[in-house]
Amino acid sequence: MLKTLPVSQVKGIGSKLEKALNELNIFTVEDLLFYFPSRYDFREIKPLKDIQHNETATIEGKVASEPSLTFYGRKKSRLVVMLRVEEVVVKAVFFNRHFLKNQLRLNDILTVTGKWDTHRLQLTVSHYQKGRAVRQSSIQGVYSLKGDLTQRTVKTIIHNALTAYGKNIEEILPEHVLETYKLPDRKDAIRHIHFPENRLELKHARRRFIYEELLLFQLQMQLIRKKKREAGEGNDKKINTSKVKSFIGGLPFSLTDAQKRSVEEILDDLRSSHRMNRLLQGDVGSGKTAVAAIALYAAISAGKQGALMVPTEILAEQHYESLNEWFDEYAKVVMLTGSARTKERKKVLDMIKNHEADIVVGTHALIQDPVQFSDLGLVIVDEQHRFGVEQRRALREKGLNPDVLFMTATPIPRTLAITAFADMDVSVIDEMPEGRKPVKTYWVKDHMLDRVLKFIWEEIQKGHQAYVISPLIEESEKLDIQNAVDLYHQLQEYFPEDVKIGLMHGRLSAEEKEKVMKAFAGNEIQILVSTTVVEVGVNVPNATVMLIYDAERFGLAQLHQLRGRVGRGDAQSYCILLADPKGETGKERMRIMTETNNGFELSEHDLKLRGPGDFFGKKQSGLPEFKVADLIQDYKALEVARKDARHMIRTGVLFHDPDYQSLLKLIEEKLSEQIYD
Ligand code: ADP
Ligand code: MG
Repeated sequence: MLKTLPVSQVKGIGSKLEKALNELNIFTVEDLLFYFPSRYDFREIKPLKDIQHNETATIEGKVASEPSLTFYGRKKSRLVVMLRVEEVVVKAVFFNRHFLKNQLRLNDILTVTGKWDTHRLQLTVSHYQKGRAVRQSSIQGVYSLKGDLTQRTVKTIIHNALTAYGKNIEEILPEHVLETYKLPDRKDAIRHIHFPENRLELKHARRRFIYEELLLFQLQMQLIRKKKREAGEGNDKKINTSKVKSFIGGLPFSLTDAQKRSVEEILDDLRSSHRMNRLLQGDVGSGKTAVAAIALYAAISAGKQGALMVPTEILAEQHYESLNEWFDEYAKVVMLTGSARTKERKKVLDMIKNHEADIVVGTHALIQDPVQFSDLGLVIVDEQHRFGVEQRRALREKGLNPDVLFMTATPIPRTLAITAFADMDVSVIDEMPEGRKPVKTYWVKDHMLDRVLKFIWEEIQKGHQAYVISPLIEESEKLDIQNAVDLYHQLQEYFPEDVKIGLMHGRLSAEEKEKVMKAFAGNEIQILVSTTVVEVGVNVPNATVMLIYDAERFGLAQLHQLRGRVGRGDAQSYCILLADPKGETGKERMRIMTETNNGFELSEHDLKLRGPGDFFGKKQSGLPEFKVADLIQDYKALEVARKDARHMIRTGVLFHDPDYQSLLKLIEEKLSEQIYD
């Protein structure tokens, strides 16, 4: 079994090399064979006109001048040779190849690979060969390596491994799948991905592994989803529909169609015997909280308790208030945060335990505290991307198989959603409540700051309020706060005394935060200077301006979140991005912000500009790392793999058809290695 055979069994691997390979997580022969090149050098001769500036390319020419050699530094040299290529004379530059001076003769044929400079007609040579272009494969895999390991060594041992063990590589995809998609079998594909003879071979080998990788992933996720559903057997809730209807009728607005649809999907989950594992996606301000409230009430109407977990205390406070307003005599809502005083907390804990409380709103204190629910039926997690897997599991374990609803205002591009949330059902609110005026967004440079501040003053004269977000310094909370404090003082000097300015940042105590937020909500403060702690959820409809300093430092999703803090009332609102981005990407991002208010559109752009890894932020991407597949480029393959996986599970072929047994076995192995919440 290649899976258990130590890599040291391969010819040419001694203990030193073995250690170096271990550093790359290569322990077995299988690991080695599946250590694919991270990119390829295509050493094909290209016509000069087809070579891009700075592209690494191979050209073939005739030596057209005596080499000229200069030495510099210690033992460093630069050798220049003119080459006639097609009808043009170009310069080939070699570093530290002084010995070539005596080896190159006029009219010799020379093939060189390196970085091409279109303007200077010059190629900086990284690889050369005397004579006509390389006969052997012109495509070279390039591995990402560490330490002293060289490309040549790795290629040699992979070659040795293929020679000795290549025939033992087992196919895992069913025959008819290979036929349907015209994929090479696993043995050939492995060989071709390391040592492709030509582009076509490489393309098919890659196509095969992209499909294999995505299919395995989809099968795993969908099996997990199936298990989660089955684990919930018997947790069907008897929802009192007429009570729920009357609750919806009592809300101060009527639901949008998208809200209605989401409510129906959630209620179906609650009624059914499987456990709900659903994501509710909706742009900022689309009204997710109302949907959450209805879901909570539905659970209560079935005699259960509900919990709403949010990422910050400010948000907990705010949700607590709106829920209290909406629930009034319908249900008893309590709040549990880290900063609650001991006596108060004890009371709240008791109420939760003996079911005096129907709904608990809280931060992660909900899972840190020894909270005991009497009968927890539904857990709603707001802004779910801020929570880790561990926290989610801990919360869920407090009750007996509660239904779980995750909410997010970060619109997730479909491409990522089907991967990151492959084990979930998804509801989308893709429609805004009526009568909202879209926020007008402007991008201004620093020298216009004075005009911007005057504009804010005018808005304040009209009775409105403004947020000012201070510059963000990555990885340094301390500096962020210093920035906010400085800005706070500057603005206090700038504005007349009757304009009250507040300051908000992450180091304030919960009480201080609450005081500031209350003052802002009550318009005792007109300008709130803040770090990004106001990012999520905060609702002050009277605020009409969102000014963001150094906006280029924020991701699009974050800017959009911040923008979502305004435009929540009847008046026209504005988002002003103060930014002077240097690079094209930064400028592009500012432009996109001014052009669209649609979170989903923005998220697609963000994904393209930043790549899938950065999309969710560094910490909890929720995305698997794929070896060959690229979530954006291979989007179509992803759709196909997803459909196939679903078909294999639904029809049961995966479990019963002998042709699928290797695949099933592999997936079961993988599932047993991983722990999902
Ligand atoms: P989200 O959490 O999705 O950002 P909220 O639930 O905070 O949005 O809703 C934003 C505002 O819109 C709140 O003031 C809420 O009361 C209001 N709202 C929600 N649904 C509707 C609706 N269907 N019609 C009018 N206003 C609504
Ligand atoms: Mg919200």
